[in-house]
Amino acid sequence: MQAPRHDSYDIVIIGGAIMGSAAAWFLTEESDFDGRILVVERDPSYALSSTAHTTSCIRQQFSTELNIRISQFAAEYITNLRDRMGGDRDVPEIRIRNFGYMYLANTPALAETLRASFEVQRAAGAATRLMTADEIAQDYPFYALDDVLLGSINLVNEGYFDAGALFDAWRKGAKARGVEFVHNEAVAMRLGEDGRKVVEITLASGNQVACGQVLNASGPRAARTAAMAGIMLPVEPRKRYSWIFRAAQPLDRDLPLTIDPSGLHVRENGGGTYQAGGHFGPDPAVEPDDFNMDHSLWEDMVWPILASRIPQFETVKLQAEWAGHYAMNTVDHNAILGPHDVVENFFFLNGFSGHGLQQAPAMGRGAAERMVHGQYRTLDLSAFDYARLPRGRPIRELAVI
Ligand SMILES: Cc1cc2nc3c(=O)[nH]c(=O)nc-3n(C[C@H](O)[C@H](O)[C@H](O)COP(=O)(O)OP(=O)(O)OC[C@H]3O[C@@H](n4cnc5c(N)ncnc54)[C@H](O)[C@@H]3O)c2cc1C
Repeated sequence: MQAPRHDSYDIVIIGGAIMGSAAAWFLTEESDFDGRILVVERDPSYALSSTAHTTSCIRQQFSTELNIRISQFAAEYITNLRDRMGGDRDVPEIRIRNFGYMYLANTPALAETLRASFEVQRAAGAATRLMTADEIAQDYPFYALDDVLLGSINLVNEGYFDAGALFDAWRKGAKARGVEFVHNEAVAMRLGEDGRKVVEITLASGNQVACGQVLNASGPRAARTAAMAGIMLPVEPRKRYSWIFRAAQPLDRDLPLTIDPSGLHVRENGGGTYQAGGHFGPDPAVEPDDFNMDHSLWEDMVWPILASRIPQFETVKLQAEWAGHYAMNTVDHNAILGPHDVVENFFFLNGFSGHGLQQAPAMGRGAAERMVHGQYRTLDLSAFDYARLPRGRPIRELAVI
C-alpha cells in the first residue's frame, strides 16, 4: 500500500482502470481546472478489473440514440488517439478492425427489435444494414441459417480495438500531467455534518484524505464504494465467461462478432483463433472476488452452439477460458453518471453493463466536464444522471450483449 503524498485533494477518483484513468486524463484537459487529483487503485496489476477481461469491441448498433452518439465519438477519438492526446509519439495509433457485429434473429419478435433498432441507428447516421438469410449466406457462407429470419450488421466503426492500449495511454498521460495514482483501497468515507458532502476518505493503509469531490470509478465494486457514503447504487457484479479457441479449418474471411440468439457471441481473434463469450441460465449477483470458471460450459453449451451455427467449428481446440464481471446496472442496463442528489460532491461513473470500454472516451470526458463546470459542454449525458433512478425514469437499452 502507498500513502498519498498530500492529505487533501480537489478530486479523489476511486478506481484507476479504464474509467478512472479516462476521467483523470480528461480532467487534465480542462483548462479551467488545475486542482490536485488522486486516483486510488486497490490492484495496480488490474488483473481482476473488468477492463482486463473483455472482448474489446466497439459497435454502433445500440437501441438508444445517445449510446450510438457515444460510440460515434469513441470511434472518432480512438482512431485519432495520438492527435487527440497532443501528438505525443509515445501514444499508440489505434485502428478499429471493422468486422462488424452480426445480430441474428430467429423469432419474429427478435426480428422486430432489430428493425426498430435499425431505424434508430440509421437516423443517427450509422451504416447498419438488415440482411435476409439469403443475403447473409452470400456474404458469410460459413453460417448455418435454417432458423434465421433476419440479420443486422454494420461494417463501419464496429469491431475490435485495442482497449488496453487506450487505457495505458490515458493512465500514463494523466500521470505525466501530475495526477497521483496510489496503490491503496478506499474503505470508508466521512460525511459533513449536514450529510451533503463527503469530506474525508479513509484508505486501507489507515491514511485519511480530505476531498473536494469524489468520483466512483470502481467498476463491479461500485455499490460498495457508494455504500461508504450511505448511497444505494443498483450495480452488481455479474459473471460473464470468455473462451479462446483455435479452429482446425479457420474461416476464409473475418468472422463478425456474431450475436447468436442462444446468448453466445463469437468473434474473429486473428491467426485462426476466435473468442466466444456469454453466460447461460440464471444470472445472479456474485461476490466481486468470485472469478471461478465453470469449466463444464465449454463442452456442454459453447462448443455445441458454435458447431451448429458454424459447422466448420466442429473441430476446434480450446486454448483459454476465464470469468470476468459486468458491472450491471440492474435497473436499466445503462451508465449511471453525474452527482448524487443528496451527497452533492459524490459523482458516479458506473453501471456500464458490459459496454464500458467503448464508452470510456465520452464518459471520461463527460465526467470531467460535469465535475469542473457543473454541466456537460460537449455531448449532453444528463439522461444518464443518477437522479433518473429515484425518479423512476429508466433508459432501456435493448442491445445489451
Ligand atoms: C467478459 C467481458 C467482455 C466485455 N466486452 C466489452 C466489449 O467488447 N466492449 C465494451 O465496450 N465493453 C466490454 N466490457 C465492459 C468493460 O470491460 C467495462 O465496462 C469497463 O472495463 C469498465 O471499466 P471500469 O474502469 O468502470 O471498471 P473496472 O475495469 O472493473 O475497474 C474498476 C477498478 O476499481 C478498482 N477498485 C474497486 N474498488 C476500489 C476501492 N474501494 N478502492 C480502490 N480501488 C478500487 C478495481 O481494483 C478496478 O481496478 C466487457 C466486460 C466483460 C467482463
